[in-house]
Amino acid sequence: RRKKIVQECETLMDKPENIRNIAIAAHVDHGKTTLTDNLLAGAGMIADEGEATKLMMDTEEDEQERGITIDAANVSMTHEYEDTNHLINLIDTPGHVDFGGDVTRAMRAVDGALVVVDAVEGAMPQTETVLRQALREGVKPALFINKVDRLISELQEGPEEMQERLLSVIHDVNELIRGMTEDMDDVEDWTVSVEGGTVAFGSALYKWGVSMPSMQRTGMDFGDIMELERADKRQELHERTPLSNVVLDMVCEHFPNPVDAQPRRIPRIWRGDADSDLAEEMRVVNEDGEVVFMVTDISMDPHAGEIATGRVFSGTLEKGQELYVSGTAGKNRLQSVGLFMGGEREEVEHVPAGNIAAVTGLKDAIAGSTVSSVEMTPFESIEHISEPVITKSVEAQSMDDLPKLIETLQQVAKEDPTINVEINEDTGEHLISGQGELHLEVVTQRIERNQGIPVNTGEPIVVYREAPQSESREVEGISPNRHNRFYITVEPLDEDIVESIKMGEASMDMPELERREALQEAGLDKDTSQNVEHIHGSNVFIDDTKGIQHLNETMELVIEGLEEALNDGPLAAEPVQGSLIRLHDARLHEDAIHRGPAQVIPAVRRAVHNALIDADIKLLEPIQDVRIDVPNDHMGAASGEIQGRRGRVDDMYQEGDLMVVEGIAPVDEMIGFSSDIRSATEGRASWNTENAGFRVMADNLQPEKITEIRERKGMKTELPEAVDYF
Ligand code: GDP
Repeated sequence: RRKKIVQECETLMDKPENIRNIAIAAHVDHGKTTLTDNLLAGAGMIADEGEATKLMMDTEEDEQERGITIDAANVSMTHEYEDTNHLINLIDTPGHVDFGGDVTRAMRAVDGALVVVDAVEGAMPQTETVLRQALREGVKPALFINKVDRLISELQEGPEEMQERLLSVIHDVNELIRGMTEDMDDVEDWTVSVEGGTVAFGSALYKWGVSMPSMQRTGMDFGDIMELERADKRQELHERTPLSNVVLDMVCEHFPNPVDAQPRRIPRIWRGDADSDLAEEMRVVNEDGEVVFMVTDISMDPHAGEIATGRVFSGTLEKGQELYVSGTAGKNRLQSVGLFMGGEREEVEHVPAGNIAAVTGLKDAIAGSTVSSVEMTPFESIEHISEPVITKSVEAQSMDDLPKLIETLQQVAKEDPTINVEINEDTGEHLISGQGELHLEVVTQRIERNQGIPVNTGEPIVVYREAPQSESREVEGISPNRHNRFYITVEPLDEDIVESIKMGEASMDMPELERREALQEAGLDKDTSQNVEHIHGSNVFIDDTKGIQHLNETMELVIEGLEEALNDGPLAAEPVQGSLIRLHDARLHEDAIHRGPAQVIPAVRRAVHNALIDADIKLLEPIQDVRIDVPNDHMGAASGEIQGRRGRVDDMYQEGDLMVVEGIAPVDEMIGFSSDIRSATEGRASWNTENAGFRVMADNLQPEKITEIRERKGMKTELPEAVDYF
């Protein structure tokens, strides 16, 4: 059977009109895994759908143990719709918010997102996040409302009550979609509707489904379904209106094929010349065009080595091709090309435009790389909505494992760009930073289990930021030999500009003119935007000088000094964010020997630090949105858990038979929250947290926290003074 499916897929991949590239995304526990099992079984990929989870998607051991899906895995399947066979490439996405980066990358590869929502719980925070991730990438949503069996059999709802509930889920999802798309410049309607066929209902557990088109086809309406479900005749329900058919029909009918999708998506994700031949080749999904392949995932196969998975936007991938990898100098040679058939990769002769391919040989690629047969403007960097907020040290228990550990950590960083790895070969103590406690826990477990390297890990430590709060005076930075001087000011960068840099809308990778336009659009004035010399993190460096001799040759060192100053801020050596640094004037020694690295770097670094201090720099801490669902009598305990953590409760309201408590709290205080809330509410609460950026810490907490961080880092505890420099 497997061989037959592989053959079918190979035939179909040359017909882009019959391909659908889709993702399934959901809030944790809403039924994504169970639905995926249904689809695979329905497509004949597996005999017993119970096997599916194990075989196909949850390939990593820790996923099976935790019962959550962590890595985006891929599977291709076929489905007959209106007498035509279709190839459906499905990318699985993780359900836990700590792994948001994986979801965003998966969305780059697909054109449609099937959003699963639990009928009882309704839209939840992660539903909102996945919708936003899809819409940002121009991916079309459709809705599957799951666990409808519970409304019928468990909650014993009548037809009216049930209809009301289902309509309110659809209404909520559409409100979210409208809120996210009203600023978009195209006229497309992104909302979902029952009449339009973009909403289906059903039970992934009992394998039945229903939609407007399915009712017309099978003659089964909601009344019939309620009757059979109530009578416990679920097998019959499954036979008469199988979920996989209902959902796969919806996928084929309503999700765009690559030929329809790419003309809309390319302008959104690629900022190269829209009038070029290459742009046209991508728009029309030209399989004979230049190769353009966007890598969305890197994974490790014990036999084949590193596998790069991604979307072919133009041309055809073939073994032996020499391809450029964005951000690197040389070319890589494709050693094999293939399709993912569940957890297994099948090698094929070629993979043409419009498909999701899995290749080996791209040793320089990382998740997010643009790989192409001609040099080209890379795709927009994939937006990672959250930045790392928590760090943990990792150390090999045995020094013999050190080289292997370093290699593994480098691999981890390559596979998941939302993980930051800092390697310290001297001390052997490496730092990994990620989205939350669970994120880091899973990474360390993989190192121990998959690589067999026993490690010691430190306590999780929160990552802070430093940012200026006002405009500084002009500061002079003098080199140790006193022959070079730099005159610098610092001011806070406007929020909108910070945001557009974080989203990759303005970066040093793009052509100057485009960068200038993007920054102006975000609110930077025209003169300043013309003098942008460098962007580092979310900081912008402006060169306002004119005609200074030797400055050009020295600029590289100036930037090095600037980056050092920004990587380790003056307060607690945490990264600086959101600052606009201006170079107003400079004096440089005639002779290059006297303006080398040892002179220029410290002069600039000190000037930037002192200007930051004069600009009233403050410590920022990461915060999280917290939502707790809890029975009425535990509501006080739940809100107390937020308030007791320097948090704030913003809203409390009834939803179904539960109370919802919403608020925010600092990440630092949230460590250990899981066990505390469990005991405070006798295990009756379910909760969800989501990173919500950085916030200036209260003035009265600043000195203590700064001292604590400085002590931990072995720095002098007195704060640097800037008085001498003005
Ligand atoms: P995921 O976290 O989104 O992948 O969710 P799972 O597919 O693992 O499902 C979470 C839990 O909900 C499991 O215990 C499933 O058995 C259960 N579940 C999934 N779909 C349904 C359904 O349609 N009806 C009912 N009653 N339970 C379901």
